[in-house]
Amino acid sequence: MTEPMERRDFLKVGTVARATTEHTEAHVAFSESYQASATIHVSQLYDNLYLLQNAGGNVVLQTGDDGNLLIDSSFALSAPRILETIARLTPQAQAGGILINTHWHLDHTGGNAEMHKAGFRIIAHRKTRERLSTPQISMLTHESIPPSPPEAWPEIGIDERLTIWRNGDVIDVKHIPPSHSDTDLSISFSKADVLHMGDLWFNGIYPVIDEISGGSISGTIHEVEKVLAEVSASTKIIPGHGPVGGKDELQKFHAMLTGIRDKVAALKTQGLSEEAVIAQKPTAEFDATYKEEYMKIDALVGVVYRTL
Ligand SMILES: [Zn+2]
Ligand SMILES: [Zn+2]
Repeated sequence: MTEPMERRDFLKVGTVARATTEHTEAHVAFSESYQASATIHVSQLYDNLYLLQNAGGNVVLQTGDDGNLLIDSSFALSAPRILETIARLTPQAQAGGILINTHWHLDHTGGNAEMHKAGFRIIAHRKTRERLSTPQISMLTHESIPPSPPEAWPEIGIDERLTIWRNGDVIDVKHIPPSHSDTDLSISFSKADVLHMGDLWFNGIYPVIDEISGGSISGTIHEVEKVLAEVSASTKIIPGHGPVGGKDELQKFHAMLTGIRDKVAALKTQGLSEEAVIAQKPTAEFDATYKEEYMKIDALVGVVYRTL
């Protein structure tokens, strides 16, 4: 038995719907109990670079003599186990390091306060701090989200671009103009040939486009195109959610987005209302390939319709 996914509250910590045996696996994945207990799956991306997959967004850890560099902090309830995993992967016991948030959503920043306490300095786009320090509205539930505690706010803000030389690699942090939200950053590791796209990419899963935070289908397609023009066939690309992929998978994601955009645009041009376009099931040809895990398909079509 299922209930509408937008009722799920994966962007919000503290009042997430409770898991019951009736819930589907996807529902359980965002329950508080799952956030607090999910196994952290670790895979090695490069000599000193690891992917930590858990209940929240994909976390990347770079280790080395210069100190840890962490991308995203997952949910608050997952943070203690992320910290345990970091301690296990770090050769010399090192307190803290640098934490970069890909964007403000709480499945990527919920652990910020815990990481701050552990000695991490938090870097993010200027608007991530704005959004974490003020009340927000969840795109999935349309409920209000209270500000995060001040310890969770980024200390160092990026407007456009930042280069970090650390642990033998060159890390390029770039602002992604409004697409998934208006707070997105991409982070690339030059030597390791690894790119973290944050939630600009959901691999094998229908995306969330946070229209309330400035996201749009046009922006998402445009920014994915820019990434496709920059990456090579060998670049390991980390999505915000889903498995590691590469240019081929990202190209398929782009084809899905443009396919849906074109269908919705054609119907809208004919004068159909948002409800009528949703009823036409413009995602149908992709439904067997892409999972409806976070945003309901109908809600996604509504965003596409409104943000063309
Ligand atoms: Zn996310
Ligand atoms: Zn997100």
